Amino acid sequence: MKKKKAKKRLLELIEKLQKNFPVSENVHLYMKCMRNRLGRTIYSEKKNYQIYINPSSDYEHQVDILMHEWAHIRVIDEMIHNDHGAAWGIELAGIYKSIHHDFRKKIK
Ligand SMILES: [Zn+2]
Repeated sequence: MKKKKAKKRLLELIEKLQKNFPVSENVHLYMKCMRNRLGRTIYSEKKNYQIYINPSSDYEHQVDILMHEWAHIRVIDEMIHNDHGAAWGIELAGIYKSIHHDFRKKIK
Protein backbone atom coordinates (compact mmCIF):
# COMPACT_ATOMS: atom_id res chain seq x y z
CA MET A 1 0.00 0.00 0.00
CA LYS A 2 1.22 3.51 -0.81
CA LYS A 3 2.38 5.61 2.13
CA LYS A 4 -0.26 8.29 1.64
CA LYS A 5 -3.06 5.73 1.54
CA ALA A 6 -1.71 3.94 4.61
CA LYS A 7 -1.71 7.19 6.60
CA LYS A 8 -5.26 7.99 5.45
CA ARG A 9 -6.45 4.57 6.63
CA LEU A 10 -4.64 4.93 9.93
CA LEU A 11 -6.35 8.31 10.46
CA GLU A 12 -9.72 6.64 9.81
CA LEU A 13 -8.80 4.02 12.38
CA ILE A 14 -7.94 6.79 14.87
CA GLU A 15 -11.44 8.21 14.38
CA LYS A 16 -12.89 4.80 15.23
CA LEU A 17 -10.63 4.43 18.24
CA GLN A 18 -11.64 7.87 19.51
CA LYS A 19 -15.29 6.81 19.38
CA ASN A 20 -14.88 3.38 20.97
CA PHE A 21 -11.84 3.91 23.22
CA PRO A 22 -11.90 7.65 23.93
CA VAL A 23 -8.87 9.52 25.25
CA SER A 24 -8.75 12.88 26.98
CA GLU A 25 -6.87 14.90 24.34
CA ASN A 26 -6.58 15.18 20.56
CA VAL A 27 -4.28 12.67 18.89
CA HIS A 28 -1.99 13.56 15.99
CA LEU A 29 -0.36 10.99 13.78
CA TYR A 30 3.13 11.35 12.32
CA MET A 31 4.77 8.91 9.93
CA LYS A 32 8.42 9.17 10.80
CA CYS A 33 11.46 7.00 10.19
CA MET A 34 13.06 6.29 13.55
CA ARG A 35 16.16 4.33 14.27
CA ASN A 36 15.46 1.21 16.37
CA ARG A 37 11.82 2.14 16.87
CA LEU A 38 8.58 1.20 15.16
CA GLY A 39 6.39 3.53 17.16
CA ARG A 40 6.25 5.92 20.05
CA THR A 41 3.83 8.29 21.74
CA ILE A 42 4.52 11.70 23.19
CA TYR A 43 2.32 13.96 25.30
CA SER A 44 3.22 17.32 23.81
CA GLU A 45 3.41 20.77 25.38
CA LYS A 46 0.39 21.67 23.28
CA LYS A 47 -1.65 19.24 25.38
CA ASN A 48 -2.20 16.66 22.69
CA TYR A 49 -0.88 13.18 22.05
CA GLN A 50 1.51 12.62 19.18
CA ILE A 51 1.77 9.09 17.85
CA TYR A 52 4.80 8.38 15.68
CA ILE A 53 4.73 5.35 13.41
CA ASN A 54 7.66 4.15 11.35
CA PRO A 55 6.47 4.06 7.72
CA SER A 56 9.06 1.41 6.82
CA SER A 57 6.88 -1.34 8.31
CA ASP A 58 4.00 -2.72 6.28
CA TYR A 59 0.44 -1.50 6.77
CA GLU A 60 -0.77 -4.43 8.88
CA HIS A 61 2.15 -3.88 11.21
CA GLN A 62 1.43 -0.15 11.34
CA VAL A 63 -2.10 -1.00 12.54
CA ASP A 64 -0.60 -3.15 15.30
CA ILE A 65 1.70 -0.30 16.29
CA LEU A 66 -1.20 2.14 16.38
CA MET A 67 -3.24 -0.15 18.66
CA HIS A 68 -0.21 -0.67 20.88
CA GLU A 69 0.34 3.08 21.24
CA TRP A 70 -3.37 3.76 21.76
CA ALA A 71 -3.43 1.34 24.67
CA HIS A 72 -0.56 3.35 26.18
CA ILE A 73 -2.55 6.56 25.95
CA ARG A 74 -5.53 4.88 27.62
CA VAL A 75 -3.41 3.97 30.62
CA ILE A 76 -1.02 6.90 30.59
CA ASP A 77 -0.86 7.01 34.38
CA GLU A 78 0.32 3.44 34.56
CA MET A 79 2.99 4.16 31.92
CA ILE A 80 5.03 6.05 34.48
CA HIS A 81 5.53 2.85 36.44
CA ASN A 82 5.31 -0.01 33.99
CA ASP A 83 5.20 0.35 30.18
CA HIS A 84 3.39 -2.91 29.44
CA GLY A 85 1.56 -3.66 32.69
CA ALA A 86 -1.79 -5.31 33.34
CA ALA A 87 -3.97 -2.26 32.60
CA TRP A 88 -2.17 -1.73 29.28
CA GLY A 89 -2.61 -5.40 28.36
CA ILE A 90 -6.33 -5.29 29.10
CA GLU A 91 -6.71 -2.16 26.97
CA LEU A 92 -4.79 -3.71 24.08
CA ALA A 93 -6.87 -6.90 24.25
CA GLY A 94 -10.09 -4.87 24.01
CA ILE A 95 -8.82 -2.77 21.11
CA TYR A 96 -7.38 -5.79 19.32
CA LYS A 97 -10.64 -7.72 19.61
CA SER A 98 -12.67 -4.87 18.16
CA ILE A 99 -10.31 -4.24 15.23
CA HIS A 100 -9.84 -7.90 14.30
CA HIS A 101 -13.39 -9.01 14.99
CA ASP A 102 -14.17 -9.62 11.30
CA PHE A 103 -10.93 -11.46 10.75
CA ARG A 104 -11.59 -13.75 13.70
CA LYS A 105 -15.02 -14.62 12.35
CA LYS A 106 -13.53 -15.61 9.00
CA ILE A 107 -11.00 -18.09 10.41
CA LYS A 108 -13.53 -19.95 12.57
ZN1 LIG B 1 4.87 -0.02 24.23
